[in-house]
Amino acid sequence: MKGPLCEECVKSGILCDGCAEKQRNGEIGELDIQLARLLQKLEQRDLVRGASFERIFDINGLLVITTKGKVGPLVGKGGRVIRLLSKEFNRKVRVVSTLDDKTALRDLVAPARIQGINIVYKPGGEETKAIISREDKYKLITNLETLQKAANTIMDKAVVLEVK
Ligand SMILES: [Zn+2]
Repeated sequence: MKGPLCEECVKSGILCDGCAEKQRNGEIGELDIQLARLLQKLEQRDLVRGASFERIFDINGLLVITTKGKVGPLVGKGGRVIRLLSKEFNRKVRVVSTLDDKTALRDLVAPARIQGINIVYKPGGEETKAIISREDKYKLITNLETLQKAANTIMDKAVVLEVK
């Protein structure tokens, strides 16, 4: 398992100087530590293999796990790993690849589909607008505001989700 903490810290439960500094800087939080330990446990039981994550965010109660690697190991066969994580945290869990904006948005709103992504130029700066088809609205796992906030957080830019 690869995560934002080093392996030693996940194993020992005590943060080394490097990881402690990351925590002070807000690069890792309590949830990241919890997730890293949980994934390590699941790996030991052979329930997860080759998972890597960047961060886990709590967005209005929705847990969003981001990875630059493959989402597969964190999702599991038929969503088995997501269900395990969801049960442990007692929240809905979404796994998102941050490979690029399009992939991140697609993972975030799936199984609803993104119809198009536009960059809108505004006086205050750029805004990324993603259009979700109206017929897919009922497929969203939570409300649009939460998903939009999640998109803003994980992509670290202004994102607007619109149902059209
Ligand atoms: Zn460490």
